Order: sequence, then C-alpha cells, then structure tokens
Amino acid sequence: MRILVVEDEIKIADALKKGLEAEGYQVKTALSGEEGYFCLTTEEEYDLMLLDLMLPGRDGIEILRTIRKKGVLTPILLLTGRDTVEDRVLGLDSGADDYLVKPFAFPELLARIRLLLRRGQQEPQHLLKLADLEINLLVHRATRSEQILDLTAKEFDLLVYLLRHQGHVVSREMLAQDVWQSRERSTPLDNVIDVNIARLRRKVDGPFEAKLIRTMRGVGFCLGEAVNG
Ligand code: CA
Repeated sequence: MRILVVEDEIKIADALKKGLEAEGYQVKTALSGEEGYFCLTTEEEYDLMLLDLMLPGRDGIEILRTIRKKGVLTPILLLTGRDTVEDRVLGLDSGADDYLVKPFAFPELLARIRLLLRRGQQEPQHLLKLADLEINLLVHRATRSEQILDLTAKEFDLLVYLLRHQGHVVSREMLAQDVWQSRERSTPLDNVIDVNIARLRRKVDGPFEAKLIRTMRGVGFCLGEAVNG
C-alpha cells in the first residue's frame, strides 16, 4: 500500500513517514501542494493521500479541487489544523473522503487510513455503507439488510450526509447549513431537523436490533455501530 503525504512542515512529514513505514506502508512525502499534485498525477498509483490543509502557495483545498476535477479518485484524508464547521464542510465538499483535526493521536490516523483503504478496495464510489445499511447514489436507493427504506427526499439527503460523516459527530448547525442550506440557525429549523432525524431513525433503526443513529446529548448526532454492544 502506497501513501503520499503532502505536508510542508518537514518535521511532521518525516514523523508521519517514519510512523507509517513502521506499519508497513510505502510512503512518499511532498512538501508543497504542487509537488503533491505532481506526484499523484504523474507517478505510479498511490492508494491514499494524506493532505495537509494549510500549505504555502496553493492550499490543500485548491489542490483537492484540482485533483478531483481531473477525475482522480484516490482516497484523500485531509489534515486540518482548524476544527470549524466551515473547514470540515469545505474539505468534504471539495472532494476529501475524510478529515482529521490536528493534533491527532497516531492510532486514530492509522484507523482512518485503514478504513479508507478498505473502502477504496471494496466499495465502488457510488455506494455508501455502514454495517447492513447501504445507499446507492446512482439509483438513489437506501436499503438496510437489503430491504428498501422508503425515505422522503430530505430524509435521503440527511442519511447520505450522516453516512458521509459516519463515526463523526454531526451537529444541528452542520445539518442546518449543509442539508437545509440555511445560513442561520433557528429554533423552528432545529425542530424540523429533530423531526426528520426522528422519522429517519424510525425507518432506519426501528425494525432492526442494531441501532445506528445515536444522539449525542447537547452536541448532535452520530451514525455508527455501537461500540460496547
Ligand atoms: Ca502545514
């Protein structure tokens, strides 16, 4: 498995290279976005790219957009120094597959890399999956245990969003902005969000033993498999 690390801080780039090589990955580092772009698009194939958001010259987002515009589908994990909704959304919307906020724990980086590599190997791009829950974006169909879920357009969008952020907490603010395209949060909108989540939960989790949509009290929601049974 080959990983391309694009990071302008030499110390961090070297530490990542060392750590990842110790795990058996082949690692190449690039110290600028331009160099990273060049490596990714001209050299032999990489299985994954670790891309720092804050780079001199063309930043990570610009590089990301250019790469995706070119049709390169290599999984990209974005490393961001700022944990704001805007950054995360911008990163994902620009074509990143996942993100990690600095400073991060190395084992978490490894876990996310493994997840992306697995996904890249097994899943075609139009399928979003978690356990027995699956969305096929090509035919606009959501299923759980191969049973079709009868979702409204909004519930479908909501589930797509939750699946794309699986394992991460999604706040009402993120949902308001990204799924409802509302710049401002309001109590009525929060209520609409809660009603939609409740309906989605009935359809996605109601008939099944394993519950996938979790409420994180005071924070938001998280789609994932229960950790402790
Ligand atoms: Ca940087």
